[in-house]
Order: sequence, then C-alpha cells, then structure tokens
Amino acid sequence: MSNDNYVFEELGKRDHEQVVFCRDAASGLRAIIGIHNTVLGPALGGCRMYPYRNEHEALIDVLRLSRGMTYKASIAGLNLGGGKAVIIGDPKKDKSEALWRAFGRFVQGLAGRYITAEDSGTSIRDMDFIRMETDHVSGVSPALGGSGDPSPVTALGAFAGMRAALKKQFGKDTVAGLKVAVQGCGHVGYHLVGHLVKAGARVTVCDVDEHALKRTVQDHGAVIVSPETIYDADVDVFAPCAMGGILNDNTIPRLRCAVIAGAANNQLADERIHGAMLVARDILYAPDYVVNAGGLMSVAGELERGSQERALLRAEGIYDLLTSVFARADAEHIPAYDAALRMAQERIDSIARVRRTFVGVTPVDHLQRVT
Ligand code: NAD
Repeated sequence: MSNDNYVFEELGKRDHEQVVFCRDAASGLRAIIGIHNTVLGPALGGCRMYPYRNEHEALIDVLRLSRGMTYKASIAGLNLGGGKAVIIGDPKKDKSEALWRAFGRFVQGLAGRYITAEDSGTSIRDMDFIRMETDHVSGVSPALGGSGDPSPVTALGAFAGMRAALKKQFGKDTVAGLKVAVQGCGHVGYHLVGHLVKAGARVTVCDVDEHALKRTVQDHGAVIVSPETIYDADVDVFAPCAMGGILNDNTIPRLRCAVIAGAANNQLADERIHGAMLVARDILYAPDYVVNAGGLMSVAGELERGSQERALLRAEGIYDLLTSVFARADAEHIPAYDAALRMAQERIDSIARVRRTFVGVTPVDHLQRVT
C-alpha cells in the first residue's frame, strides 16, 4: 500500500472511534475489531469469519459493517453503539477452541466497549468458547443462559419489514398471491421462506449450497432458480438474504420487482449511486439495516435478560419502524435509505448533546435502561 496514512484515512472516511488489530501466534488468530460509535452505548456487533484475500479487504469489511451497526442500533431504539469484528480465516478449516478463547481475551481487554456475537461463518458453539474468557458476548447457547440463534428473529423482522414495504408500494400489506424471490436459503432465508409460503406467497429461491436449497424446498416448498438468474426472476419482491453488494450496476437493470426487502447486510454496492438507480426505476428499497434489525434485537435482548418472546414482539415492530421511515421519506421527498440515515443520525446527535450537557453525571447501566 503506497499511502503511509491509509489506516487512519479509512477510519476518518467513516468516522470510526477505534480499530483494534488482534494477533495470537499460537492459535493463528488474526482479527480486526472495529468500533464505530459508542454514543448510545457499548458497540455491539457480530464476529465474521471469512477467508479474506488480504488485510485490506478485511479492514474495509469491518469498517463498513461496524458503521452499519451504529445506524441499525440507533434506528431500532436500542442503547447500543456500532461495532463488528472480522477474523481472517476459513470457517470450515481454521476454527479451534484456542482461537475463540484468544479472541475472547481480546474482547475482554476492551472492558465492555465492544460486545461480540455471531455473524457469517461463526456459530453458537464459537460464542460459547468466547464466553469462557469474557462476559462481553451475546448469542451464546440456551444451555449457558443465552438466546441462541438470532436468525428466526431476524427472519420474522424481515417479514414484517417486507409487509410494510408492500403496504407502501401496493397499498396492501399481505404477500398472499405475490411472487417473491429469496436469494440465499441460509439461517435467515430458510425461516423467511417459511413465513412467506405460510402467508400464501409464491416463492422462488436460489443458493450456491445444495444442502441449504434442498432443506428449504423440502420443508417449505419453493421453485428453484440458479444463483445467476435470480436477478431476472419475474417477481413482485426481491429479498436478498445472502451477501452484500448485490445491488449494483450489473444487477439493478435486470430486476423486475417493485420492492426490495431482505436481510442481507450492505445490499447496495454504493449507497448513493445504487440507491438513486433504484429510485429511478421506481423500485422501493427498504433499507437493509432496518429490515434486518431483528437479529440485533435478539442479542440485545439476551444482554437485558429478556425472553425470546419479547425479542420476537420487538422484531414485529419493524413494520411500524419502516412505516415511519417511509413517511419521513415522503415528507422530505428523499429516498427511504436517506430518511433512515437521518433518523438514526439525529438520535445519536441528540444523545451526544445530553452527554455533553450533563458532564459529571454517571449514566445508569445502559442495559437496564432499555425498555
Ligand atoms: P448464512 O451464511 O446462514 O446464509 C447465507 C446463504 O447464502 C448460505 O446458504 C449461502 O450458501 C448462500 N449464498 C452465498 N452466496 C450466494 C450466492 N451468490 N447466491 C445465492 N446464495 C448464496 O447467513 P445468514 O445468517 O442467513 O445471513 C444472511 C444475510 O443476512 C447476511 O448478509 C447476514 O449478514 C445478514 N444478517 C443475518 C442476521 C442473522 O440473524 N443471521 C442478522 C442480520 C443480518
């Protein structure tokens, strides 16, 4: 990298507070923890394990993801900041108890400024190993008093978000009789397809993993298309539930849907450019971090010692949350992704002012204040 100041420049671009590089030679751990903003509370966000080609790719991913968590927590009304961690490695080959415990010790070293959880490539079992070294982890197994897999809550929230988007675009919030394409039948996609089929939608699915595809089709029933052709599917709704960056110059011109509402993080390759392309095509894009906030609600609920029922109820509230985002967008003649960003940023700014005003007052434990 020819630019000698590139790490701080990247932090500055997205306004990050802190980035921690973690290395443990014995276990082979190479991790980066990104803490974007802690105005609302400790930075909570999952730990992703992925075979990044190089550390630049890993750094950019953790910066993008941790920033997204700040806005997700804010708009969801949670008293949490935004953070995320990435581990450079192959989740199929490089996991060990020692690696997770080494990571857990780094998390513990941050003394609660960052709380970790599951993400792509990590599991409840991995979180249980982290818990052996730190309390600052959520999404541990029910056997350890945790909330377990957050994906069913994410899927219910995404379903609620989709119905709010349908109400906005078609005037009716039911999926009955509509055609929906779901990209990715993993943890979230599987459950989302279940909700859709049960509610009377005609569902098309794709996945690169035969096993995930088979399980979804067998359990719920859906039509299969190839991962390459999902963008051309003649559907009313497209629900991305796999990777980020899939709404881009190549895919947007091919879309035939009127609504995009899915759980994948960072769906727009470029927020401005591709958000505007969707507006120009009259496709309603429901901002991903609002639609998929159910997972964060689930892990936040665990920290509050709340029940799964409460997390599911909260996730259903994504319907009202998105409705308010669309109302703000209409009122200010801006796209929904801009309205969501404004709403999230305003909450952070207003709380930052309270913190500056009442200097010397020790805040009560943020988690006890979550209602
Ligand atoms: P997952 O890894 O369980 O599932 C993703 C699925 O997508 C896998 O089955 C994978 O084979 C498939 N896939 C990968 N590349 C594909 C491609 N090119 N075409 C089609 N399918 C492809 O992940 P998940 O937990 O279900 O999460 C899905 C998305 O939602 C991710 O972007 C994740 O960050 C986001 N998300 C998940 C949660 C959660 O609670 N799990 C919460 C918020 C956001």
